[in-house]
Parts: sequence; structure tokens; C-alpha cells
Amino acid sequence: MSPVFNFSAGPAVLPKEVLLEVQNELLDWHGTGMSVMEMSHRGKEFMQIAAEAEEDLRNLMGIPKNYHILFLQGGASTQFAMVPMNLLRGRSSIDFINSGHWSKLAIKEARKYASTNVVASGEESGYANIPPEDTWKRDPEAAYLHYTSNETIGGLEFPYVPNSGDVPLVCDMSSNFLSRPIDVSRFGCIYGGAQKNIGPAGLTIVIIRDDLLGQTVPGTPTMFDYRIHADGDSMYNTPPTFAVYVAGLVFKWLQRQGGLKAIEQRNIEKAALLYETIDTSSGFYICPVDRPFRSRMNVPFRLADESLDEAFVKAAQARNLLQLKGHRAMGGMRASIYNAMPLEGVKALCAFMQDFSKDHR
Ligand code: PMP
Repeated sequence: MSPVFNFSAGPAVLPKEVLLEVQNELLDWHGTGMSVMEMSHRGKEFMQIAAEAEEDLRNLMGIPKNYHILFLQGGASTQFAMVPMNLLRGRSSIDFINSGHWSKLAIKEARKYASTNVVASGEESGYANIPPEDTWKRDPEAAYLHYTSNETIGGLEFPYVPNSGDVPLVCDMSSNFLSRPIDVSRFGCIYGGAQKNIGPAGLTIVIIRDDLLGQTVPGTPTMFDYRIHADGDSMYNTPPTFAVYVAGLVFKWLQRQGGLKAIEQRNIEKAALLYETIDTSSGFYICPVDRPFRSRMNVPFRLADESLDEAFVKAAQARNLLQLKGHRAMGGMRASIYNAMPLEGVKALCAFMQDFSKDHR
């Protein structure tokens, strides 16, 4: 039987090696006789797991010393509120780039706390691109500039880090976190849910520059205050221990792959193969995103003849290529090819797409 390849947008594929490690250690972590799931988060074993995960992430991304790494819960959706609560710092307006579904949700939530100014939007192009930076109307008094580095549904990924001037740059990196090297010092805050490129659902990672802590809006709940979590080493309350542990194993797996530069090269290769298959299909498959903004992580495409959609998904399933149906808001198809998707999976998908288009012309 051919192997199963899971193209889900998240929760998503994890490295097989990591799952095997988890399996091996599930009942007895390093001779303790306990599963990580059963450990006190304040015991020395879990403290070690969490500290190592943090240290490995810091090394992988080159996170400078003046940034805190927080292991939180609530998903990126909670950050849509937590970021303004923490980063408004007495200001009344926030700059946003609207690149699609998830930026729009972030904007909607932020409106509860401040006025929002959309400095650039992909809307006119149908989210095929973002207007050039020199046309953006940034507000120098804005509390921060927020953008979504990769739109998981629309498949629009920024090929560059925006320039925010003196205003802190905030990024929802949920779906391309750890997919390429980035210069963390360009950012005030980076956040993302773990369930795409990091580990199991339940863990949210926030990377925050120290000087932005400690100025929450009045009435901010304790659990929503970054300072509380930073001071408590993400142990103010019970962290999602098992998810932190698995994420830690994924960080070590990434190190073994050669780090973010090496994983980026693989991601470029995988994405290029898939987009080439779409672009050389003589219009059988169509990608709605302009080339420079095409995501390396989530590849959306339509069949020119939409009446074939169901047959496509079914035939793919029969070849063990799973979860290819696009998001309900978009329709069509979407293949998510995160770090843990092996090249063989993308090759199998491309071969299937070519066969399917030949059979249905
Ligand atoms: N932002 C992006 C870019 C996402 O892809 C998602 C989840 N698909 C979210 C935010 C919301 O994340 P969560 O479900 O973790 O709240």
C-alpha cells in the first residue's frame, strides 16, 4: 500500500521520527516511570523539558536575549485580543495590513480596543498580492503595525518583512513559523498557534521584546498579561505540558535537519514542484495568487472545471493523499506542505494531479 500523506492545514502532519520518539517515551519518560502527560509542571523533569524547548527555539531562530519566549494557550485567536491589550501602551490607533481571512479577523478583534488603520490591502486584487510598500500610508503614531506573514486559507505569503519604521512590528506567524530564517530583531512581537509547523494543538508561542511588556490596558485579565507569563517563565498557571514537550522534540528534529536555512531550501523545492505542476497544466489547475506572494506552506488551487472537485478529492483519497479540500471560505483545493511534509509526499501529489488531469481532459 502507498504511504499516507496528510495535506491538512492544521492540526497538521508532524515528523514521523518525532511521533516515534513520543511513542517510545509515552509510558516512561527517560526512566522516570512516568509519562510526560502525568508530570507536575513544576517538577524538575518537566522544568527541564520546558527550559530545553525554549533554549532550542531561541537557538533555531536566533532570538536575541532581550526577547521573551512565552508558551501560552488559547490559540492565535486569543492573541488577536491579547496583542492590543498589551501593546497599545496608551496609544489609540493600530496599523494593519489586510492580506486575507486571518488578518481580517485580527483587525475585527483589535477594533474593540482601538481604531484600526489599514495601510495596505490585498482586497482589490482578490488577495493575489499586496500593493508595494512605497504606497502604504503608515501612521507614525500607531501603537504597532500588524501583519499576517502567511495567510493559511488564501495562500498569500509575504516574501519580505515589512518596514514599520519606528513603530513595533507585530506578526501572526501561525502558518509559516520556523519555515525559513527570519531576523527576529525586526519584530516587536511574533505569535502563532503550534498546530501547523510546530507541534500539537493547544500550545501558542509568543515572542515578545522586553521593552513592550508591562503596560496593559486597564482591566486586562491577569492571564492576558504578557508580563505575568514572562515573569513566571510561562508557569504562572499550568502550561500545555504535553504540547510543549512535543514541540521541543520538533525543535530538536529541525536542528537535525540542519536548522532553518536547510528546511527553507526543502520548502522552496517542495513548493516549486507543486506550483510548476499547476502552472504547466494548461489551465486545468489554477492558482489564484501572484507568483511573488505564493505561499510555500499552503498551496491553494482550483480546478478550471469545478464539477470535478468531488472526483478529484475522492481519487486523491484513493491514492492516500488526504485533506486536500480547500477551506470552506475559499472552495477549491489546498495542499498544506509544512516542514514535516516530506518531498515524497509532494511528488506523489504532483504525479496524481498530472494523472487526474490527463484522465479528465
Ligand atoms: N492565524 C492564522 C494565520 C491561522 O492560520 C489560524 C488558524 N488556522 C489562526 C490565526 C487562528 O488560530 P487558532 O485556531 O490557533 O486560534
